[in-house]
Amino acid sequence: MAAYKESLPFYHREAWKRVRALALMRDQGMCVECMRRMEAGYGIRPKRATMVHHKVPVKERPDLALDLDNLESLCWEHHEQRHPERRERKRDGGDAGPAFKMRVIKV
Ligand SMILES: [Zn+2]
Ligand SMILES: [Zn+2]
Repeated sequence: MAAYKESLPFYHREAWKRVRALALMRDQGMCVECMRRMEAGYGIRPKRATMVHHKVPVKERPDLALDLDNLESLCWEHHEQRHPERRERKRDGGDAGPAFKMRVIKV
């Protein structure tokens, strides 16, 4: 992977904006994790997606960075859950709805 010298932040590129928009369109602008839980009968109200997440991190697979199959639209909260490594202790910052309690459920 060291061969990748593309150090320009990936997110700044036009291509990303395009594929991000496509991912949101595919997911109807809704958080796929919320939808999954709703369909599983958790009785939650799905939220709109505000983030597009890479299932396989770009760091690991830069070649999948623009692959729609590697993207999922997520609400802020579910996106945070995808990045436990980034979670510090700003838990009461922002709108933590009831679904926040379901954090223990691993998907
Ligand atoms: Zn969600
Ligand atoms: Zn992410």
